[in-house]
Amino acid sequence: MHVLLIEDSLDLSANIGEFLTSRGHDVDYALDGHAGLQLAANNSYEAVILDLGLPGLDGLTVCQRLRDASRKDVAVLILTARDGEADKLRGFDAGADDYLTKPFSLLELLARLKVLSRRASGSKGVLEVADLTFDLRTLLVRRGDRVIALAPTGMRILEQLMRASPGVVTREQLEATVWGNDPPESNAALRGHILTIRNAVDAENAPKLLHTVHGTGYRLA
Ligand code: CA
Repeated sequence: MHVLLIEDSLDLSANIGEFLTSRGHDVDYALDGHAGLQLAANNSYEAVILDLGLPGLDGLTVCQRLRDASRKDVAVLILTARDGEADKLRGFDAGADDYLTKPFSLLELLARLKVLSRRASGSKGVLEVADLTFDLRTLLVRRGDRVIALAPTGMRILEQLMRASPGVVTREQLEATVWGNDPPESNAALRGHILTIRNAVDAENAPKLLHTVHGTGYRLA
């Protein structure tokens, strides 16, 4: 993945950059918004990691200009300070696709970037696994003609499983999606969500789509 990192903290920038590079991704660095916009205009990135607290041009303005100017389909993930709830909402208004609150885990950052870049890369907005469909715009989930109702957490888990299908999603990845850096100690909560999804998706004698991969996680196929 070709990633643009716009972050004025050299330490954080180096941390993120070294981690992503060690996982085989290409990272370009900008220390302020102007430099970031210039790089974005001259290169094609799959994702932009954007700190909101930047000197000069602030992150929200950078986000808006990224959306207005260059490629509208580039995924933008914003980094916010611990209590930046208002910033976060303004970030979504400015066109951000996702956010992480500092401090965050680098593994979670990578997991989210992957989801975002897949979403940005020409997805038609409907996930399909066999006769199970998930319309990401209307949030309507169907198995064949049957409409499936799930709570928001269940939908996030199902979305992750569908995007990865037929691959396995580990319990840790699912827990990171639902609980971020603060997963519950026991895996009972995740098992509960999976059971709900399984009952909803694989109901009425339909062929089984949700499989448990023992000791690892789950897969839809
Ligand atoms: Ca900053």
